[in-house]
This record gives sequence, C-alpha cells and structure tokens, in this order.
Amino acid sequence: MAYYEGDITGDFVWEYDSGDEVFRYEQDPFFLQKYGAHLWTKRFWEGCGCYVEDNNLPYCMRCYDSAAEQKEHTNVDDLKNPHPSYEMRFFKEDFDEQVRPWLQVNELNAQEYIPRLTFINRADTVVCDEWECKHNQDNTGLVQEYCILKQIEYYFDHNEEPIGEECCVFQIFLP
Ligand SMILES: [Zn+2]
Repeated sequence: MAYYEGDITGDFVWEYDSGDEVFRYEQDPFFLQKYGAHLWTKRFWEGCGCYVEDNNLPYCMRCYDSAAEQKEHTNVDDLKNPHPSYEMRFFKEDFDEQVRPWLQVNELNAQEYIPRLTFINRADTVVCDEWECKHNQDNTGLVQEYCILKQIEYYFDHNEEPIGEECCVFQIFLP
C-alpha cells in the first residue's frame, strides 16, 4: 500500500466501512503537485548508495574511477538501483498562495462529509488523530485531498521550530 512518511505521515489508501460493505479507494500519491508541491525523484547508485539526480551519468564518479570498477564492486549490471525514491516538498509560500484559498472555498462543503478531523504531532511527525467520514461515491476526491491538505496546514500552523518550518518534506513509498 502506498504511504508517506516525514513531516507528515499517513496512507494513500482509504477504506470506508459503510456497514455492509467496505469501500477501498487508492489515491494518486503524487496529486499534491497540482497544488504547488515539488516532487523530487532520486535514484541510488549500487554499492556506495549515493543518490543521483542526473540519469545520464554512467557510474558514481564520486566513489569510483570507472563503470567497470563499480561493476566489479557491486556485481550487478544496472549500476543504478531500478527503484527510485520519491520526496515531496511543499514550501510554505506555495501552500499559502495556492492551498489556503482552496481550503477557504471548499471548507464548508468538505466538513459536511467529514464531521471529525483532528491531527496530532507524534514523535516529530503529524498524523491523523481522529477521523470520521460520510462516504459516497462522488466525494472521494474532495474528501481525500482536503484531509491531506489539512494535515499539511496543521504542520505549518503548529511547527514552532525556528529552522526548517518553511517546507513540509516527506518521502513517498509505493508498494
Ligand atoms: Zn557514490
């Protein structure tokens, strides 16, 4: 199941129990980009574990003198680990500019479906504390985007550290 972990932590898979039936909905893990968040894709070199942003380099020039040397060390053909690591960064100024107005417009509508939504800061990450949702087929998009955006809002509004509060950073893990 896809999940995120960092300044905020949670799942991208939602399950609604309507009594007779459990409805399962998977959210696009990268949807925050449309609200101004930045996705940073990292790939790692085999052997040394350095990350690489530019995918054109033939080997890790920081740690090896040639591709042959790195191959000898790692014993694999593809020197870049095939599984990328995803990091999402939401800068406070982008959030203020793009998300807060969206929240204002959609708040009342969303609260109708989500009577309870509270967050808590636990072990240096913001997690959902209480959540109650009235599910219907038409509101899944709004409800889920609203919940994660509120979680990021909580992070910005409750983080009193003098350094590092201007950006909400978390890793995205895919199954
Ligand atoms: Zn390296």
